[in-house]
Amino acid sequence: MKNIVLLGSTGSIGTSTIKVAEDLPDHIRLIGLAAGKNVDDLSAQAHTLKPQLISISDDSLRASLADKAPEDVRVTSGTKGLIELATLPDADIVLIAIVGIAGLEPALATIRAGKDIAVASKEILVMAGEIVMREAKEHGVRVLAVDSEHSAILQCLDTKPETSVRSLWLTASGGPFRQRPKEEFADIQLSQALKHPSWDMGQKITIDSATLFNKGLEMIEARWLFDIEIPRVKVIVHPQSVIHSMVEFIDGSIIAQLSTPDMCLPIQYALTYPKRVGSNRVLTDLARIASLTFEEPDTEKFPSLNLAREAGLTGGTLPAVLNAANEVAVDAFCRGAISFPRIAETVAQTMAAHQTKTSPSLQDILEADRWTRSAAAEIVAN
Ligand code: NDP
Repeated sequence: MKNIVLLGSTGSIGTSTIKVAEDLPDHIRLIGLAAGKNVDDLSAQAHTLKPQLISISDDSLRASLADKAPEDVRVTSGTKGLIELATLPDADIVLIAIVGIAGLEPALATIRAGKDIAVASKEILVMAGEIVMREAKEHGVRVLAVDSEHSAILQCLDTKPETSVRSLWLTASGGPFRQRPKEEFADIQLSQALKHPSWDMGQKITIDSATLFNKGLEMIEARWLFDIEIPRVKVIVHPQSVIHSMVEFIDGSIIAQLSTPDMCLPIQYALTYPKRVGSNRVLTDLARIASLTFEEPDTEKFPSLNLAREAGLTGGTLPAVLNAANEVAVDAFCRGAISFPRIAETVAQTMAAHQTKTSPSLQDILEADRWTRSAAAEIVAN
């Protein structure tokens, strides 16, 4: 039995994690939950799951959460609440599924408390992968991949050393605009960008999948999780999203991991790792899928991939700039303030204006994040 703390319990990954815990009551117990503002869903989860502690990040909602939560469940709030959850003495693994940067501090607190982290929030590894992986090594804890692509790579590697790997191949669905001509990109509406062909996810990551920034962020995430330089992390478009990623070995063999797309599978693998536990939730009918196809990504239409490659190769504070500029631009697109192609242009202009700091401290990274948010907002406004 593993005791799990779940940060971001009301989101897409959070609710899938709860399904996994309900599927495997003899293996997984959720002992702590956190959300941003959604008091109703969080209190309902507390009634069903009876965790030890729950936290709402908006301090002003703490009293309302305490009113609605069961009496025997402790309630806390704010960043302090996230840290308390991240270091809960009974926790074995803390799963971080918060959109954006709010998960970084709790992730480091978990590692320093000597506990394993399962990372869905790719922003953590994109911004501070070097620091997170170094600290995890120093404290002897695991950083477990939740993203389906990285879970696939973990499963394909199966403890084989980095020296046996030629390349990691991340698969990308290509998003809803794979076949749309570039000349029509300026007309793309939010509702169209939110229609992902194969996955049902939160808003931010769905837009990132449409621009392919999601794949770019995943390249940097893979670089740190598997300690493999960016030139050996490759991307291939695979519209069926059945192969979740592949590892090409030095002898020419390629090992892939396949299944019907369902986040419950990689979440379960992270929480039961290194064991495999029986579950009938994800069943894959290959005869029905019938064909698996592959294409080169179109970097003219989707400049995000080259921007992410540049940020990953340069390193230092530049990946944090890529991440924050993209967040600002996606938010502006969702508000109708900029067009779809302006998302990548905003990121490119912000990156060009940044003076990269090499070997940054956590403070440097947080400072680059702050600088970027204001620089990108100005670019959006102009
Ligand atoms: P959602 O938008 O669906 O959910 C976000 C969750 O984070 C919600 O529970 C939200 O709470 C919570 N939250 C937001 N801000 C805070 C905060 N400051 N403190 C505590 N909780 C907070 O996102 P997803 O589940 O889609 O994505 C979560 C992360 O996982 C992202 O980094 C994404 O890139 C990554 N990921 C997602 C995948 C997916 O399939 N969805 C796949 C792979 C990775 P509230 O509801 O109260 O706002």
